[in-house]
Amino acid sequence: MRGPLRAALAVLAIGALVAGIALAPAARSQPNLILVTVDTLRADHLGFAGYPRDTSPNLDALAREGTWFPACFSQSATTGAAHASLFTSLPPKDTGVTANSQHFPTDVASIMSALHGAGYATAGFVSSVVVGRKSKLQDHFDHFDDELTTKEQNRQERYERPADQTVAAALEWIAAAPKDRPFFVWIHLIDPHGPYAAPVDPDRYVGDAYYGSIESSIPLSDADWQPGTIPHYQALGGSTDPRYYVARYDAEIRFMDAALGTLVKTLAADGLATDTLLAITADHGETLAEPGHRHYFSHGVITYDETVRIPLVIREPRGERRLDAIERTRPLSSLDLAPTLLALLRVPIPPAFQGRNLLRTPLDPAAAIVSLGGYGTDKLEQQIGTQFSVRRGPLRFIVNSKDGSEELYDVASDPGETRNLIASPPAELAALRAPIDATLGKSRMGAPEQPLSDQQKAALKALGYVE
Ligand SMILES: [Zn+2]
Repeated sequence: MRGPLRAALAVLAIGALVAGIALAPAARSQPNLILVTVDTLRADHLGFAGYPRDTSPNLDALAREGTWFPACFSQSATTGAAHASLFTSLPPKDTGVTANSQHFPTDVASIMSALHGAGYATAGFVSSVVVGRKSKLQDHFDHFDDELTTKEQNRQERYERPADQTVAAALEWIAAAPKDRPFFVWIHLIDPHGPYAAPVDPDRYVGDAYYGSIESSIPLSDADWQPGTIPHYQALGGSTDPRYYVARYDAEIRFMDAALGTLVKTLAADGLATDTLLAITADHGETLAEPGHRHYFSHGVITYDETVRIPLVIREPRGERRLDAIERTRPLSSLDLAPTLLALLRVPIPPAFQGRNLLRTPLDPAAAIVSLGGYGTDKLEQQIGTQFSVRRGPLRFIVNSKDGSEELYDVASDPGETRNLIASPPAELAALRAPIDATLGKSRMGAPEQPLSDQQKAALKALGYVE
């Protein structure tokens, strides 16, 4: 609420008290919601998560004021599918968005439809074409802004918008938003997505004390998907030094974090901080130069922790601490976010949501959390295959679609997922396979799928996915 408006209401309230007249319920009786999804933001490169570089001072402050969840996993490692599942609390097979090129579904409940139904004004501000108008997401917001201002460095006809500009657009809308009802604003920021070219101080971490912790060089590729190489779209000059790319990725996080700082400070200055539920998360992470994983500076079809463990920070409105009751270190899925945010706002949760309201359902330390690489119409899947993955307790189990090979890691003792234990699997292997089979199912409403090659059919048949 603006200062002058608040002052005017105060005068009215005093007048009403004097006259003995009961006032109507206060405007914006429910808190606002701002949901920020940062594209390609790993959970482990943030200060509050223990990362050595000072990448995230503003997000660190929010994590201190609010609650952060160290074991939140995205449903998908690809942008379109991850966002669709986050908004609808449905797995990709039920949204029909299993990759990047499919339309957001029109006939399913979402956090947008729930809040719109509860009287919220809704607005989306995005920074990439993948979640722009081509995705049809604009049909789900009262106001939608996908004005992309900046050409990407290495790809033709690919535009994006830096975080400071997207946040400024959102703040401008908020300043002019109707004052008689709460708002839901979704802000999508693209900065950590490659190529790593922060508009401000892109080399701030190059050569720092942390710089020498990884070694060797990685060849540059002419393609965007060749295993064991730096993808073409990521190329920064002719550098083959993984340390340089990691430092530049971190500078993108720092640039994005400054925009989050502007958002938080402006909300406070405008008197909106207290009445706004603020949630910051990501759609997926990014591989950097993890030994043995062979996919460098990439995501989409890779489902190790580096691409599917996402940050989640929530600052509750009005000084509430309802999330304190949650065992926040236990694993949760991105499906759980929409129902939990609605519960925090005291807005009814659509019955179709499959995620859990964490205020009601205790987190199970042995829950099986599924994360899928892009599939269905995913171009990368057709070229190099994709990974279907489940995390249960300390174990991560992965099926590679291309050849049906399996991987198993104990993340507790091997956080880098480098020692494949599949040759001596535990008795519970069937319990790890089952959730993947269940969540793949048959795609409900995706765009027409590409015909499978004989090799793909054989691999899927071997896995029991097709007859
Ligand atoms: Zn993304």
